[in-house]
Amino acid sequence: MRISPRPARDPARGQPDISRKVLRVASVSEWTTYRIKIPKRSTSGPDDGQPLETVYHVVHLPTARRILEDGCLRGGLIYDESKLRKSRICVTWLSANTWGRGSIYGNVQFAFPWTKQIRRRHCYWVEAMKAYSPQAYRILLTDRNLSKLEYVKEYDPASDKGPLRERSGTWYWNHRYTSEFMVEGDIDLDHCTGLDFIGHHGSICRLDGKFCADFNTTTRSIGGKVMAFLLGHDLHTMDHVLKEPASFSPDRALSNSVDVGIDGIRRALGRKKDRFGGTIKSKSSRKAVMRGALALYGYGEVAAARELISLMNSPDVFEKALSEVVNEHFEVKDWTLPD
Ligand SMILES: [Zn+2]
Repeated sequence: MRISPRPARDPARGQPDISRKVLRVASVSEWTTYRIKIPKRSTSGPDDGQPLETVYHVVHLPTARRILEDGCLRGGLIYDESKLRKSRICVTWLSANTWGRGSIYGNVQFAFPWTKQIRRRHCYWVEAMKAYSPQAYRILLTDRNLSKLEYVKEYDPASDKGPLRERSGTWYWNHRYTSEFMVEGDIDLDHCTGLDFIGHHGSICRLDGKFCADFNTTTRSIGGKVMAFLLGHDLHTMDHVLKEPASFSPDRALSNSVDVGIDGIRRALGRKKDRFGGTIKSKSSRKAVMRGALALYGYGEVAAARELISLMNSPDVFEKALSEVVNEHFEVKDWTLPD
């Protein structure tokens, strides 16, 4: 706790004469409630911070489509009960938390390396959201010096003892609460290092409340729609991520997320024999039909996508076309549909 003297007022100006020193107890910083300790090598304690390496942005499908088309996460004005809602600051939200019981923000997750976000940026404490469960702490990252902005307080992760700390280039965060990092401005997808399809929370949605359609959506299903959107619209904003083989399947040229999404497409549009029976078999025709169907499916037009698919002759033609479209899109050879 810091104790600082209050300057005595000048009696000559008619102010009360306060000749004795008056001590004022400075308010304890709000962030101390969320403080962490830097872990020691030899022992670990309950207040230790967790290493902070990756931060995430989670959205629903319509926002994911816009991000994939724009090639970036667009910063937006703050509309919730934040102190910053009266400012004109546009931010992009990131968090280090992952969601064991499903995310309340959606089911498409973009990952970014933390060091890229924090590098050369000023850090400001914004607020604690005590009504949240668990409580959330909010820290603003910006290229600007905002020390004169009344809503925020400068926070130095190297010396201030709150929920975000840095020592010798290693970063730590308090994982017992919800971390909310508000990055001023847009974040380019070139910096994205992961695209994952995750479970939505079973009953809570921060965006659509009880009307959310994704409480029971499987990762395969949401992955199918995202992959269909990328393939059907010839979008390449995530190629650098999806062309990285997953560590657990290094023999495959494309990431596990591609496998998950393609499996979702196959289950939603292919497989059932009675969906087929049209005349289309040739390579060029089947690829054109597949791209059209994927574009529709990526927009949630399931019935229209199935109508197009029914022009194909058989499930076998469908699977060949799907594999060809994926290989062409990512400019790889010999990628095959997942087992
Ligand atoms: Zn939702």
